Amino acid sequence: MPNTNTSGKLCLSCQKPIRGRADKKFCDDFCRNQHNNSMKSGPEKLIRNINAILRKNRKILQEQLKQTEKTIAIHRDKLRMAGFQFKYMTNQYQTQKGHTYFFCYDYGYLLLENDWLLVVRKK
Ligand SMILES: [Zn+2]
Repeated sequence: MPNTNTSGKLCLSCQKPIRGRADKKFCDDFCRNQHNNSMKSGPEKLIRNINAILRKNRKILQEQLKQTEKTIAIHRDKLRMAGFQFKYMTNQYQTQKGHTYFFCYDYGYLLLENDWLLVVRKK
């Protein structure tokens, strides 16, 4: 009799129920290879690269704010030197006064004059 127990999880490659051990992620080596190849190219790669940029942007903003400070004004170049990529953000927020905040997850910034920025943390 073949083992018909399934772990309740679906194969990350073919989406069929996985049989066998609970920690398996794929049916077999074929599915594992298929999945790994698809992760190295195409949309998955693009998504992962952008996610990495957003994560890095957030980390850079986070590093500007010490734990006790709510906001801090810094020059745009300081972020750029740290590797911040301004064209990537997760969302933006416009205040009633017409100021636009650009966010990477829970950290963001407001453009000030002369290439200065106000870095903020979302509550
Ligand atoms: Zn599979």
